[in-house]
Amino acid sequence: MVDLSAVVAEIAAEMQAAPDRGVPAQYIPGLRDVDPARFGMAVIEMDGTCHLAGDADEAFSIQSISKVFALTLALGAVGDQLWTRVGREPSGTAFNSIVQLETEHGIPRNPFINAGAIVVSDVLLGRHEPREAIGEMLRFVRGLAGEEDIIVDRAVAAAEMETGHRNMALAHYMHAFGNLKNPVERVLGFYFHQCALAMSCRQLALAGRYLMARGVQPGATAGERGRSVVSPQRARRINAVMMTCGHYDGSGEFAFRVGLPGKSGVGGGILAIAPCKASIAVWSPGLNARGNSQLGTLALERLVQRTGWSVFDPG
Ligand code: GLN
Repeated sequence: MVDLSAVVAEIAAEMQAAPDRGVPAQYIPGLRDVDPARFGMAVIEMDGTCHLAGDADEAFSIQSISKVFALTLALGAVGDQLWTRVGREPSGTAFNSIVQLETEHGIPRNPFINAGAIVVSDVLLGRHEPREAIGEMLRFVRGLAGEEDIIVDRAVAAAEMETGHRNMALAHYMHAFGNLKNPVERVLGFYFHQCALAMSCRQLALAGRYLMARGVQPGATAGERGRSVVSPQRARRINAVMMTCGHYDGSGEFAFRVGLPGKSGVGGGILAIAPCKASIAVWSPGLNARGNSQLGTLALERLVQRTGWSVFDPG
């Protein structure tokens, strides 16, 4: 039997000492100013046992990891119709790329690149005010994590808005193809606030448990029954999109090295799911060339080496 607590502590110690930590995102102060020495890790097992190490309780900007929760809500709202407006193929291009939108008529490749997440935001906005949509998202993640102190970092959201010319370009371009129904400013206001959700590794791993547990959010105590968030099939499918698209043009490399569904964010976090085994969150702000957490990926690679977890070998 693997001593998971020891493994998680060991990996955190190794990461603390790692010399090559990548570079934090530089485009806004809220990300640029985070200390690259930070590292946190949380592993929550099916029975609720929680293993924490390093800065696992420190809140950070979850950025694109929010795309998993947004996709879940959008599938709940419109079901499989969503797939008429966004694809589910890996893009092989950067997270904020515009190139494929021209030949593919404003239909983004998948919901985890920015263009796709902007369409998902438009779907969730529906006829609501951005404020209501943000409130719904907050309630959703707070409910999933079972914690009320999850907030949107308004300074980060405002800075995203000020510097978000690429995202504006993506949104206007898709609007021109008729694939956004709401005004661009409202859709992006909602999108940037999702990205600015601040959560700790522990909270993220808690929030991701439904993807580990066939769509069921486990109860708070051992005896308590869980709550169905999505069907088992939908949980499998969200995991499939995380595996194929969750790391942009680094998704193949992540599948090769880690072999678990995972979603990264430019704040340096990664949510990874070992189905029926664990919900895992790691955070290290330094990014690799593809905009994914350098040490977060390495930590997950070491975790699966030591536990044997892989969707390609359920064990
Ligand atoms: N807020 C970022 C953006 O829209 C999110 C991207 C990311 O996490 N990769 O550019």
